[in-house]
Amino acid sequence: MNKVLGHDEVRTAFGEAMHHKRLHHAWLLYGVKGIGKAALAEQLTALYLCESPSLQDFQACGQCHPCAMLHAGSHPDVSKVELLYNKKKKKMNRDINIEQTREALGFLALSGLKSTRRVLMIDDANLMNNQAANALLKGLEEPTEGSLLLIVCHDLMRLPATIRSRCMLQVCSPLNEDNMQHVLHSQNLDERLMQLAMSLGQGSPGRVAALLNKQHAQALLEWQDLLIDLEHSDIGLVQKWLDKHVKDIPHDLIANMVLNATHDVMLNAQAWQTSSQIYSALLAVGSWPKEVVRAYFAPCACPDVIHFTITKCLEK
Ligand SMILES: [Zn+2]
Repeated sequence: MNKVLGHDEVRTAFGEAMHHKRLHHAWLLYGVKGIGKAALAEQLTALYLCESPSLQDFQACGQCHPCAMLHAGSHPDVSKVELLYNKKKKKMNRDINIEQTREALGFLALSGLKSTRRVLMIDDANLMNNQAANALLKGLEEPTEGSLLLIVCHDLMRLPATIRSRCMLQVCSPLNEDNMQHVLHSQNLDERLMQLAMSLGQGSPGRVAALLNKQHAQALLEWQDLLIDLEHSDIGLVQKWLDKHVKDIPHDLIANMVLNATHDVMLNAQAWQTSSQIYSALLAVGSWPKEVVRAYFAPCACPDVIHFTITKCLEK
């Protein structure tokens, strides 16, 4: 089972509800991508099924028979719904479909083999299509005794309100600095990559997973060098870098590095005087594919002046 860092509040709330025998039958864990929500759901599953959980820190014992079966991935009363690989099309399915949801709810409706308890986890629940979500609703309305549903998603608002309102909502926060550093240290990043990962990751190790790929890491360090003095960047080199890497490297990393590079300019900006400075700085990377700019720059909660600038870039 993956080690879980952070999320203590959620685990405590769950453990206390369990201890006082008022555990809600469906928990919805939501928060940004890459912070360990699925690992947390696995931890809560263990806590729920363990025969002698610790009531001090709400951890499963790791020793009993259910814990051993969970560790081996062979517990008969646990099931998971997630996006599946389509062998015919040789790629991942686009959504979680109704057959998967129905089959999983059928599993949950049976009584447990090892105890009266059963757990179903739905990972990336925002990928359920409408039919799948409607089917899930039925399971939420008629829970079987002892069944626990753990729904994990990063985009809460893409789940129907009818589902959200029937679950115990628990927000999962990004990792704090210590925990983030702990995870990154365990991944053996060198000092410069550590710094880059801390600034780009914002508490989400998953967001900077591309830095574990040596070639991607090297490319992103080159990108950082190109952005040091954005206004005087060599446009030819920027263009060349983009042409070479924009297909392989996650766009949010590329875009966020540009936003970080313009951050100081923005902070000192007396908006109107320096907007032309920012404008020329962003023009240096104005050769972005339009879909990248739309998808990653425009929705950023950045000051109006940057929005204005990006709009101007797009008009060019
Ligand atoms: Zn145990």
